Amino acid sequence: MDLPIMEKEKVHVENISFTYENHLLEAGVLRLDKIHEEISGNKFFKLLRHFDLIQAGCVRKIASFGGAYSNHIAALAAACNALGLESVGIIRGDASAPMSHTLKQAKRYGMVLEFVSRQEYQNKAQLTSAFELKGYYVIPEGGFGLLGASGVQMMYDWIDDSYTDLVCAVGTGTTMAGLVKGAKPHQRVWGVSVLKGYESLTTEMESMLTLDELGRTYTIAHDYHFGGYAKYSKTMLDFMNQVYTQCQLPTDFVYTAKMLFATWDMHRKGLFDEQAKILLVHTGGLQGNKSLAEHALLF
Ligand SMILES: *Cc1c(COP(=O)(O)O)cnc(C)c1O
Repeated sequence: MDLPIMEKEKVHVENISFTYENHLLEAGVLRLDKIHEEISGNKFFKLLRHFDLIQAGCVRKIASFGGAYSNHIAALAAACNALGLESVGIIRGDASAPMSHTLKQAKRYGMVLEFVSRQEYQNKAQLTSAFELKGYYVIPEGGFGLLGASGVQMMYDWIDDSYTDLVCAVGTGTTMAGLVKGAKPHQRVWGVSVLKGYESLTTEMESMLTLDELGRTYTIAHDYHFGGYAKYSKTMLDFMNQVYTQCQLPTDFVYTAKMLFATWDMHRKGLFDEQAKILLVHTGGLQGNKSLAEHALLF
C-alpha cells in the first residue's frame, strides 16, 4: 500500500560533484530526505510492508520499540496518525527525564508513550507477547527485519539501472538488506556502519537475505563511525559544511555525513572501479542536527 504521508513526488536523484582535500567525487544522490517535512528518509519505506499486513488484518492498534531519539518511533507515530490507527511507543528510559524533540513529535502525532526500564527493555520478546495478547500488531525495534527490508526495495522506483554502486548508511542493516534484495546483477551495494564494533552486523543483515541474494556483491565498511553512534569530530563538521557549500547538499552528523565521507575516502583509495557510477542514498535524518551547537553548521 501507499502511505499517503510519503511525499513521493518530492523524491528525486540529483548529481553532485565536490572536491575535498584535492580529491573529486561525482555521484548521484537519492534525496529521500525530501519524503516528509519532519520525518525524513528510509523509515517510512521500512514500514510499508507492515502496513500491508496491518491493513489486511484490520488491526487498529500498533506498537513498537525505540530509544528517546528513535526516528523509527517518530515515523510510526506519523504513519499511524495519518491512517487513524492507535499507536504505542515502548520507550527505553525514564518518563521523568526531559522529553527529546523526537518523542515530543511522536506524542504530537497521538502516540501513547510507555516508558520501560533498561532491564525490561532488554526483554523485548516478553514485551512483544504482552502487547500481542492485548491485540497489538508489534513492529520490531528500528523496523528491523525482512518485512522492513522488503519495503525498502521500493526505493528502486527511483534508481536507474545505469548505477553500478549504491551506498547507504547502516544502523540495523535493514535498509542495506533491502538494497541488496533489489540490486541488479551488475550493481554492488556498500553499507557504511555508523556504530562502533557492531561485529554481528553482517550476520544480522544477511539474516534478511535469501540464498540467492547472499551471492550478490555487497560490502560493509566498519571504519567510518567517527568514534561511535552519534559521535562526530571537527573534521566531520568541516566536511559537512564543505559539501553544503559546494553542492547545497545538507547531511546529518549521525548517518549521512559518515556515509558520504566514507564514499569519498573509499573513492580516493581506489576501492571503486574507474567506470563506477555511484548512487548515494540520502536516508534523511536531518532533524538530528538540531542537537548540534547552533553555529556548528552553515545550514
Ligand atoms: C535509521 C536510519 C538509518 C539506518 O537504517 P537501518 O535500516 O536501520 O540500517 C540510516 N540513515 C538514517 C538517516 C536513519 O534515520
